[in-house]
Amino acid sequence: MDVGNGRSTLFWEDTWLQGGPLKVSLPRLYLVSNQQETVIGDCGFWDGFEWIWNFQWRRELFQWELELLHQLHERLRPVKMSIGREDNVVWKFDSKGIFSTNSFMKILHSETLPDEITSYSFTSAIWRGVVPPRIELFGWFVLVGRVNTKDRLSRLGVIVHSDNICVLCKKEVESVQHLFLLCEVTWQVWCSWLSSVGQVWDTPETIRELFEKWIGVHRRKHERRLWLAGFFAVIWNIWLERNARIFKNEVSGVEILQRRTILSYSDWTGSDLGDGC
Ligand SMILES: [Zn+2]
Repeated sequence: MDVGNGRSTLFWEDTWLQGGPLKVSLPRLYLVSNQQETVIGDCGFWDGFEWIWNFQWRRELFQWELELLHQLHERLRPVKMSIGREDNVVWKFDSKGIFSTNSFMKILHSETLPDEITSYSFTSAIWRGVVPPRIELFGWFVLVGRVNTKDRLSRLGVIVHSDNICVLCKKEVESVQHLFLLCEVTWQVWCSWLSSVGQVWDTPETIRELFEKWIGVHRRKHERRLWLAGFFAVIWNIWLERNARIFKNEVSGVEILQRRTILSYSDWTGSDLGDGC
């Protein structure tokens, strides 16, 4: 937040100073503050043109807490409140402070991913606006292996190790590669799409390899765009089916799954399978 009059920024909870939210860096003071969830503009008052901070506590502060209060005032010293200007959300990863998907992707790449992935060519192939943005994002997570499959969750300690079996085939460990590519259920769905364009493939080794081959199926631009939606339709419906089985105990067979992928495709592209493929 770029703070003006402090009327729409939470003093303790929002990020408006270097170093993140104050409740994180000064948790003790936050705990005894009587102004939790209070906007900055209510944590002080104007004395003429000068802003005076005025904090309220649940009880009198101990000596060592006064030291923390001193630290707080030090951090607040550079703050210039402005009576007539609204608070503004700024996007700190852009020099003009304006959010764009482009800068978001750049920061996501540079902060969280090794070079091997950022330089990988699928990145530009995926953001085509063919399917809704959240589906594109999901596709991107699948390709970089950042989906919360059971295998990943058990590695992170979220679920027990013995519960990491794929719910589609109940045979193998549910990893990204398995769930979206190698699983016998999933592979049948991929094959039904491939057979619609008269292609037969050996199973690629990784989902990225499949994606690269996939986008090479059509040469004409329009067809290629439509065909890309098919890729998203498959991984998205596999994910929905997997979640329905785990969370709702609902099981659909391969044929229904295939039909759903075609429905998603039509929804997203506005055309029937066959128009462009
Ligand atoms: Zn499986």
